[in-house]
Amino acid sequence: MRPSTSRCPFAHAARSPPPASCLQARVPDASAASESAPVYDLVLMPTLSTVITELEQLAPLQLAADWDNVGLLVGSKRPTIDRVMTCLTLTADVAREAVAEQADLIVSHHPLPFRPVNQITDASATGGILLELLSAGIAVWSGHTAWDSAAEGINASLAEKLSLQDVSPIEPDTATPAVGCGRMGMAPASSTVAELAQTLTAALGCPGCHVAGPADRLAGRVGIVCGSGGELVAEVAAAGCQTLVTGEIKLHNALDATARGLAVIAVGHHASERFAMEQLADRLASRLPALHCWASATETDPLVWLPTPSSL
Ligand SMILES: [Zn+2]
Repeated sequence: MRPSTSRCPFAHAARSPPPASCLQARVPDASAASESAPVYDLVLMPTLSTVITELEQLAPLQLAADWDNVGLLVGSKRPTIDRVMTCLTLTADVAREAVAEQADLIVSHHPLPFRPVNQITDASATGGILLELLSAGIAVWSGHTAWDSAAEGINASLAEKLSLQDVSPIEPDTATPAVGCGRMGMAPASSTVAELAQTLTAALGCPGCHVAGPADRLAGRVGIVCGSGGELVAEVAAAGCQTLVTGEIKLHNALDATARGLAVIAVGHHASERFAMEQLADRLASRLPALHCWASATETDPLVWLPTPSSL
């Protein structure tokens, strides 16, 4: 447990010392304290187990894809914690920020580790990051496809930004059909593909996007798959959509989409998901006010558009 300057709204003076796990700081207040009755600042700091329970209400792990690696990936559930940083991807720069800012937990959308690791050494980028986090006592939890699919998750948020109506999952979860993989819904009646693209790039703050298919056509029924949506082109078309909104798509998947009558809007993988890690930090903080939560300030989209002389 690290000292913190944050004060919990439930903080109060206690006549007898509280358990060490709850004791955040002793308050030197001469007017209130006497020699026989020391004053302690009691802060109800949650255990990592409690924080995970809240995270998994926001992103239920049963919604994750079979191939995914989600939940607590590094650390112990037992310690109390007070500083949580969210990010899209746990890079070396993001790990350094977590160490410098004394985070106790990183909520990384993309899992780390993702695949099984045989060694944890600094001979690999993943091993180096894990070593740094382990030596700093920082835990890692990932929601990934569970957060993509959740009721307030990434695809649902994108549908809201696009003002879609009659929104439902593209592939409903068998146990809870109101949520599931992707979202689809009707675009505002007169919206064209180009107008939908402008709405989304403005909402996400990205400088532009890729569009495949006729941009002046009505957007109609829109399917949303955050991140990389190319593998779901057939499902989105079969669901009756006329437009696919995603982060990134390969050339051949885009050609497959247009051959099936689907227009495609691709805003970039980072842009399609990163905003939701800021939302997740806010939602966690509102559920557990004793926590200090923030989204990584150093994380940026590694792919940037470089204007060429002819386009200036
Ligand atoms: Zn992603």
